[in-house]
Amino acid sequence: MKVLYNEYSTYLKAKYGEKVYKLPINIPVTCPNRDGTISYGGCTFCAQNGTGFEMLDNSISVKEQLRRNMEYISKKYKANKFIAYFQNYTNTYLELDRFQKYVNEAIVEGIVEICISTRPDCIGDEYLEILYEVQKEKNINISIELGLQTVNYHTLIDINRGHTLAEFLDAAMRIKKYGFVICAHVILNLPGDNIDDVRETAKILSIMKVDQVKLHSLYIMEDTVMGELYKKNEISLISKDEYVHRVIEFLENLNKDIVVQRLIGRAPKENSLFVNWGISWWKIKDEILCKMEKQGSYQGKKRCK
Ligand code: SF4
Repeated sequence: MKVLYNEYSTYLKAKYGEKVYKLPINIPVTCPNRDGTISYGGCTFCAQNGTGFEMLDNSISVKEQLRRNMEYISKKYKANKFIAYFQNYTNTYLELDRFQKYVNEAIVEGIVEICISTRPDCIGDEYLEILYEVQKEKNINISIELGLQTVNYHTLIDINRGHTLAEFLDAAMRIKKYGFVICAHVILNLPGDNIDDVRETAKILSIMKVDQVKLHSLYIMEDTVMGELYKKNEISLISKDEYVHRVIEFLENLNKDIVVQRLIGRAPKENSLFVNWGISWWKIKDEILCKMEKQGSYQGKKRCK
């Protein structure tokens, strides 16, 4: 059977020789786009408690969060290798010594990779230096998850992102110098974006040679600016069929070597107003794959050979 896209689980298995699980870590940080440094209120889709869910409380130490999650996942899946995933808010928006302390706490047996999720305008070289030392001294791989969402800078302004494409390009080029894996986070159905934006996003990420992408569908939470617009019927959302079409178009325009972490997002049920058209994420994923198969579609199909 033809490989339709470069799937993350297959990549992890090939890289680490077995299945690897991501363990979310929640540290007490916020985001410059929420606390007034860049703006107040954050991205219009971001809820008060950030973008992560299924996480332990941030008052629990990093070591203890990892221990608890590892114990649970090891028992359930007989797992041995894990990625420590600093997931919520902006994980490089804190003093350097605190950042270093939290990262060091994540260096425990079984951790093969540390993944830091952050904004493109918040990843200074001094943070990258700390991670570089960890990679060199402790033989732990480093990956950086950068929120981009879209390359359309008009949409980035509309969603109050607080940065544009330029900051993403700058961050990606600097991270590349350290040899870390870069994963770009993209939302394919932001209000205001059309299929041209989706195509352009795939092309620019390919040109930038990012290593991975994570595709999300927009979910709308109760205590957000978008939530308010949604309740007033002032927001227009694309259909599920259009989302399926956009994912396929994105993949066809994406370099075949880029690993795809996700095709569609998952969201908490509590306080959500709109999530995946009320359909399970895996059903939509199946539909995408089925349609790709039927129409002879595959990742990189529209890239120059
Ligand atoms: S950058 Fe991330 S944490 Fe900050 S407001 Fe936007 S989505 Fe939320």
